[in-house]
Amino acid sequence: MSLVEIQTRIAAAEAAHDRPKGQVKLIAVSKVQPNARVKQVLEQGQRVFGENRVQEAAGKWPDFRKRFDAIDLHLLGPLQTNKARQAAELFDVIHSLDRPKLATALARLAQETGRCPDLFIQINTGKEMQKAGIMPEDADAFIASCSAMDLPVRGVMCIPPVDETPALHFALLAKIAHRNGLSGLSMGMSADFEMAIGFGATHVRVGSAIFGARGAPK
Ligand SMILES: *Cc1c(COP(=O)(O)O)cnc(C)c1O
Repeated sequence: MSLVEIQTRIAAAEAAHDRPKGQVKLIAVSKVQPNARVKQVLEQGQRVFGENRVQEAAGKWPDFRKRFDAIDLHLLGPLQTNKARQAAELFDVIHSLDRPKLATALARLAQETGRCPDLFIQINTGKEMQKAGIMPEDADAFIASCSAMDLPVRGVMCIPPVDETPALHFALLAKIAHRNGLSGLSMGMSADFEMAIGFGATHVRVGSAIFGARGAPK
């Protein structure tokens, strides 16, 4: 599907749910896509991109940034503490703040460097063992502890279980954001971004619907 089609579908979902036009940010998830495809999407004017791995992003985005202005780069995948410094330098936004140790590391870096990417706290809405994220019942306390560290928390993020309808997860994430006074809601992927917009998503993360199916991860 083309970038324009996705933009059109986002605009239609905004209108259908009485959301202000242009409120939803489209993150084009470019992980494991060939550079030539990413370049095409840049040439079509897209500037907001998402990557899963620090290493992979470090291999392609510094070069794209030399050739294209105003790139807004979002980290979506798990972040090891020992890569926090590199991630904080490379990314504008991190969606995967998922544990106290990482919060402490980012706060220390922010003190040292005077800057920090905008942050989304990943919530494990499905309470899945194998999935990263703060458990829903721990979310309020964790958000408060991040605020106490002066971290720039903008919102919450979730990846619903693959075998469940995402609606309940989107609703739960929206509730957590609302009661904590956070405006950012990072939810919705290729298969369900319109539904996520119905539940208030401000950031949708769309990969395969724009770029085509991904090959095996590198
Ligand atoms: C890969 C990925 C996406 C995009 O998934 P698609 O189904 O290709 O749209 C979104 N969010 C996260 C966290 C991802 O890892």
